[in-house]
This record gives sequence, C-alpha cells and structure tokens, in this order.
Amino acid sequence: MEKFILDDDNLWKDNRLTDRQTDRQTDRPLTLSEKIEESKRALRLASNMSKEYYGKPLVVTYSGGKDSDVMLHLAETTLEPNDFEVLNSHTTVDAPETVYHIREVFERLKSHGIKTRIDYHIGEDGKPITMWNLISDKGIPPTRLQRYCCAVLKESGTSNRLACLGVREAESSKRQGRDIFGIMVGNYRQATFFSLDHTEEVHREAQEINDSVWDCKLIELMRKKGSTVVNPIYHWLDCDVWEYIKQNKIKTNPLYAKGYHRVGCIGCPMATYRQKIKEFADYPVYKDNYIKAFQKMIDVGETKGKNFHKEGSRWIDGESVFNWWIQEYKHNVKGQMTLDDYFKED
Ligand code: SF4
Repeated sequence: MEKFILDDDNLWKDNRLTDRQTDRQTDRPLTLSEKIEESKRALRLASNMSKEYYGKPLVVTYSGGKDSDVMLHLAETTLEPNDFEVLNSHTTVDAPETVYHIREVFERLKSHGIKTRIDYHIGEDGKPITMWNLISDKGIPPTRLQRYCCAVLKESGTSNRLACLGVREAESSKRQGRDIFGIMVGNYRQATFFSLDHTEEVHREAQEINDSVWDCKLIELMRKKGSTVVNPIYHWLDCDVWEYIKQNKIKTNPLYAKGYHRVGCIGCPMATYRQKIKEFADYPVYKDNYIKAFQKMIDVGETKGKNFHKEGSRWIDGESVFNWWIQEYKHNVKGQMTLDDYFKED
C-alpha cells in the first residue's frame, strides 16, 4: 500500500487557488473531473497540432515522478498509440528506484505499441554526456542560477517539437503566471504562454483563414517547427494528482513510499537543503561522485589557468566545493563564496 504524503508546505500550496483554477463564470474552484476534461482537451489539441505543423507525434516527456505518471495515464486514455511517443531524458543522477520505475513503465508502453525513447545525450565525440563530465567541462557546479545541466540533460531532446510537460503552477511560485500552451525561446524566463481557450481559437482561425499574416505567435512558431510546449496538468493541485493516482490505481515511483515528496535528480540545486541532506544520506555513492567531479573541475580548471583559491574562497578541493554547493542558496552566509564572487575578475 503506497503512502500518500502531503506535508504542511504542500497542504498550504494546495489551498492556494488562482483565477485559472476557478470556473470563470461561477468563480468556484474547478473540480477534479473538470480539470481532467481540460487536460484531455489540451492533449487532443496538442496531438492534432503536432501532426499538422510538425508532421510528427506529440512528445510526452516522462521523468518517473508522480506528475509524469498522471500525464502519461491521461495520454494513454485520451490518445491513440500512434498519436504520441514517450521520451525520458536520462539525467545520470536519478536514483536507482527511478531508473527501474522508468524501465518498467517503458516495457509496459512498448507492449501496448507506444513508441518510447531514452535520450542518453551522446556528445559529438560519441561519448555520453553525464552530470560528472558536464561539471568539469563547464568549470562550475550546477546552481540555482546556472542550471546548465537541465538544458543539456533534460530539455535537449524536445527541440523543434511540441512537447508535453508535467509542469503545474502549484509546484512553486516560479511556475505561476504560465499557462497550458507555451513557446520556448531560450529559457523559461523568455517563454510566452497561452490559455487553452486562446489556443483552440487561434488554431481554428489558422485552419479557416490559412493566411500566416494573421497567425498568433504560437501558430507562427509552430509553422516554423520551433520548440513549443503543452502543460496539460498545469492547473492541478498536489491533492488532485494523488486523488487521480488513487482512483486509477497507478503504480508510482517507490521513492514516495520512502518519504520523498519530490522525485528528481539527486543533488538538484533546486532542492531544499533538507532534501539534499536526505538524498546524500540515502545515496552516499552520488555524494562521492559529486566530490570527485568537483575535484576534477578544479584540476581541469587549473590547467586552463583558473584560480579557484581566491582569498576567502572555500573551493579548496572537491569536498570543500561540495560543502559549499549543498548550501549554495544561502548566499549571505558570512565568508560564503557566492557566484558573483566567483565570476569577479582577479
Ligand atoms: S539537477 Fe536539477 S537543474 Fe540539473 S538537470 Fe536535474 S532537475 Fe535540472
């Protein structure tokens, strides 16, 4: 029996309602059934647009977390097997439980005739790009401000496609203000978002008028096969996700039953300090690998003339970088080296 965990923080998040999570005519909160219908409408529209503008099926991204499992179940129960394909981006820092869960789900999908793909990020030299070699290549640890790992290890497989993501606005304040459809230019800060109603309308108009002069920016980019996204469960709260999982008996990543509220890369800079401490206590091999990668980053950097030992710096060796890095968000700690310090010229 799986344990459904909602901590105080998540309950607080669940109690927040934005105007998009309410029925605009009656101002009452949307029910789960209404959100499911909205998600299915978004998936049908996205699948049609993907075929029409890209000539390819919709890409449903799958990370092995609960939101991915819900999104995948919605896709499987809404679309035909040929209407979508499922993509996992191999981050190289997922927990073993997550990797096994992904493999199990992909085996099931394949047996149902659904195309699956795992992106191992093979570099130009033919070797896989991993978190470990990225750290020494970039010369800095991945941080909240420098999430180069996401661009390479998570987002690179959906370029020039319409990709379906499990992003929800209740996940964090940063994810609020987006919407169900979006165009990607550079990163999320430069993205523009569109409501489902608007997208349905402009898609219909584009079909009827068929004159690119009148195209909305979204249709314009789709015609050029640019990178666009659909977030079908954008308005879902945590409790909606768990309720849907319960109702549909969806098997989720076993890490949730082991006390994890969020499942993702071990040591992700976006995780809280508490989560990182738990992750590295549970997976000490990953901690050792990060320390080795930081040491290699220093060694490689020094051969290129970088000075990691500026006055006040705590970047002495791999272990000291690791200790700095897991507290990276505490920028104002006395004596703590910040990214600004690092980028400052000697
Ligand atoms: S560690 Fe975090 S920021 Fe880096 S790829 Fe994973 S999710 Fe993205």
